[in-house]
Amino acid sequence: MSFYDVYKSLEDKDLDYIIENTKEEEIKEILAKDFLDEFDFLKLLSNEAKNHLEIMAKRANFLTLKHFGRAVLLYTPIYISNYCVNKCVYCSYNHENEIKRKKLNLEEIEKEAIEISKTGLRHILLLTGDSRKESPVSYIKDAVKILKKYFDAISIEVYALKEDEYKELVDAGVSGLTIYQEVYNEDIYKKVHLKGPKSNYKNRLDAPERGCKAGMKFIGIGALLGLNDFRKEAFYTGIHCNYLQKKYPHVEYSVSAPRIRPHVGIFDLIDEVDDKDLVQIILAYRIYLKSVGITMSTREKEGFRDHLIPLGVTNISAGVKTSVKGHSSDEDKGEAQFEIADKRSVKEMKEAIKNMNYQPLMKNWMNI
Ligand code: SF4
Repeated sequence: MSFYDVYKSLEDKDLDYIIENTKEEEIKEILAKDFLDEFDFLKLLSNEAKNHLEIMAKRANFLTLKHFGRAVLLYTPIYISNYCVNKCVYCSYNHENEIKRKKLNLEEIEKEAIEISKTGLRHILLLTGDSRKESPVSYIKDAVKILKKYFDAISIEVYALKEDEYKELVDAGVSGLTIYQEVYNEDIYKKVHLKGPKSNYKNRLDAPERGCKAGMKFIGIGALLGLNDFRKEAFYTGIHCNYLQKKYPHVEYSVSAPRIRPHVGIFDLIDEVDDKDLVQIILAYRIYLKSVGITMSTREKEGFRDHLIPLGVTNISAGVKTSVKGHSSDEDKGEAQFEIADKRSVKEMKEAIKNMNYQPLMKNWMNI
């Protein structure tokens, strides 16, 4: 059994009916419960629940303080290659886009690592495009060996690997895996992933589970909001996380709610997700998943990101450059993956968190 079976088992359920017909009394009852089932969670994502964000925010704030205190984990991504063989219609790195491609050699990776480590960050997220030829597992492993010199916690966000490949990277020092399904709706998935290995829906869906089996300590999942009705995508993300939690309780999980940002190429079928929608998703995640981390990237504007911290967000990126070689040089950089909205440095982000009377954490794990 894999999460795909859970996904298929929900096909004959009328999720739209619940989204459209949940009543005010049901929301109140759910907020008084200690444990929610998946349909309680869906009701918190319903149209009616959008009228009760204030009371949901109180509950979410209570649960966040109970499970995380006033701590916020800071991290930053390092892009080491933007070569990609896939055709994801929403991404600048799509192999049909004529962008400047760049892959860092080991010396350049070390320069980037040194620049990032000067900010005090000790948790890093390593990213590549999806190309086994340009970024084989051996290259990722070599990069990890360098990053280990400067960082205590290394997570990866790369193409979907096999279990033994994840294990190889865990043995090399990787502690976390971030892999987003992008869109859980299988039909839409096929329409937006037109070519390349990423077009294999099930292979990607099972990747977080392979990471759990391989010994990853942290797993981050999510859907790219804007590709489908956000309520259903957030619902599948939440129940996917719940499925993994029950099966692999020793792993720590986080969920993310990235909205599509401007990128190179044309994709205009965006299912709009406004700020209030995003707040509702964060609140529903926190109330359903309680102790699961919630990640918010620099896709969102600074004031808005700050506002989401008391509501449930626990992991925040800072000092972000989404281009290859973005930290160590202004020249010879690869094209950025998407435009960022919050351009604050790590120092500025730390100050903002402290000013909110929260504690910025520079790492969540220490390799020994
Ligand atoms: S989303 Fe990933 S796999 Fe798809 S084009 Fe971008 S880098 Fe490649």
